[in-house]
Amino acid sequence: MILKRCGLTAPASLSAICPDRLLKAARCSTRLRRYTPHLFSRVLDVLLPRTCMLCADALPEHASGLCGACHARFEPIRGPVCTCCGAVFPSPRGSDHLCGECIIRPPHYDYARSAGVYAGELRRAIQRFKFSRASMLAGPLADFAACLSGFGRPACYAALVPVPLHPQRLRSRGYNQSLLLALRLGRLWDVAVERDYLQRMSWSASQSSLSRPQRQRAVKGAFACRDRRHEGARLLLIDDVFTSGATVNECARTLKRYGAAAVDVLTVARTLKDHTECQLSSD
Ligand SMILES: [Zn+2]
Ligand SMILES: [Zn+2]
Repeated sequence: MILKRCGLTAPASLSAICPDRLLKAARCSTRLRRYTPHLFSRVLDVLLPRTCMLCADALPEHASGLCGACHARFEPIRGPVCTCCGAVFPSPRGSDHLCGECIIRPPHYDYARSAGVYAGELRRAIQRFKFSRASMLAGPLADFAACLSGFGRPACYAALVPVPLHPQRLRSRGYNQSLLLALRLGRLWDVAVERDYLQRMSWSASQSSLSRPQRQRAVKGAFACRDRRHEGARLLLIDDVFTSGATVNECARTLKRYGAAAVDVLTVARTLKDHTECQLSSD
């Protein structure tokens, strides 16, 4: 019956099933395990083996989302990077320093870092996470961000603030991917998460085809805070992908307008300049 609900007919034929059905099966399995006691979970392991959301290989007990091989294919950000916005310089030589963009137009946030390059398996994982309702990928993606982004002292943050979605987009997606990442990081670091402190007031169609200036105009004035409860505090904005930086910059401007003393940014992935035109991610 469980298999039928997932659209599957026989567990032995997993490798022959199309990716969409595997994704549906994995989602169903994760949801059932969340609400079932330990013993029943073991029965589910036999009936519906845990599989990787990207390659469909079997996962070890207690693992969920991704296998080790897919996780190992995530490409980490390698320096040198801009000491402010985290942009990756094309030459691998030299040390970190300010980029021209941050010298000419300093962003409103103080410091931004990303864990990996938005390409290959990491891009596939994030797209599944956002657009295929694979919410169980929040765990592995947040763990990846926590390990590699260089945020070694999370205790200095008063709260983690997820980049909000407009209610209209939230309804169509079903969840805010940035909030799921923030909740996982908040548990890992024991830092409070502000679920709805920062709010998105206006909604625009997908930004994926817009240039950087167009993105900046599209998000101008799009956010508001509930109150000034974080006056003088240091906050950490959480998002999935850093593309042009326009969205997190406008979020940081808003948080500071409501009194925050400093705003840093952590994203799971970042587009490199070479990839930007073809791989822009919509929010
Ligand atoms: Zn895999
Ligand atoms: Zn920079």
